Amino acid sequence: MNLSNVRINVENDVENEIKFALNTPISVKKLSLAVIEEMKKISDLSHLDVTGLSKIPLGKLRNNAVRLHAVCRYKNGVKKTDEISPISVRCIDIHPRVLNDRWSRYANFLLFHEFLHALGFSNHGKEFRRLEALWHDGIAREMGPSFTSYLRNMNAGWLWVCPSCDIRHMRCKRSNGRYRCRLCHGSLVDIKR
Ligand SMILES: [Zn+2]
Ligand SMILES: [Zn+2]
Repeated sequence: MNLSNVRINVENDVENEIKFALNTPISVKKLSLAVIEEMKKISDLSHLDVTGLSKIPLGKLRNNAVRLHAVCRYKNGVKKTDEISPISVRCIDIHPRVLNDRWSRYANFLLFHEFLHALGFSNHGKEFRRLEALWHDGIAREMGPSFTSYLRNMNAGWLWVCPSCDIRHMRCKRSNGRYRCRLCHGSLVDIKR
C-alpha cells in the first residue's frame, strides 16, 4: 500500500467534511427577507408591524454556541412587559453554522421564532406557541434537537495519535481505527481533546 496516498485520503476526507458543513453560505439579509415574505401570508400576524422586522440589525452568535441557536435582544431599558414592536429590538443574533444549505429550513424557522419575540410576544407562552405552530414547514419546527447534536459533534475535538511516534493530528471526528500512521504504519488512536 502506498502510504502517502493514505495520508492524502485522510486530508481529503476532513476537507470534504468541512466543505459540506460550510457549503453555500446563506446571507442573513436574504434569509430575513424570505422569512418576512412568508410571515406576510400569516393572517394572525397581519395587524402587527411585520414589514418593520426588516429594519432589525442581524448578527451572529459565537461559532461554538451549542444550546443557544438564536436570540432576540431588546434595547436597553425595554422590559418584557412593555408594548414591544420591532423598534424595541437592538438586534437578533443567529448561529453562524445554521446559515448554509444543510440547515436552511431550520434557519428560516429560527428567525421566524425570533421575529415573533420582536413583534411583542416576549415569552414562550401559549399564544407564542400557537403562532409558532403556524410556520408552514413542520419538519423545520422539529429540527432543533438535531442541530444541537450536530453542534456537539462539530465542537467535540479529537486527536488522532500514533502511540509509537507520538504524532498528533487534530480532527473533528474519531478515526475509528480507519487510518494509519504514515511513519510506522501503526493504527492511529483517538484521544478526546
Ligand atoms: Zn424564544
Ligand atoms: Zn507512527
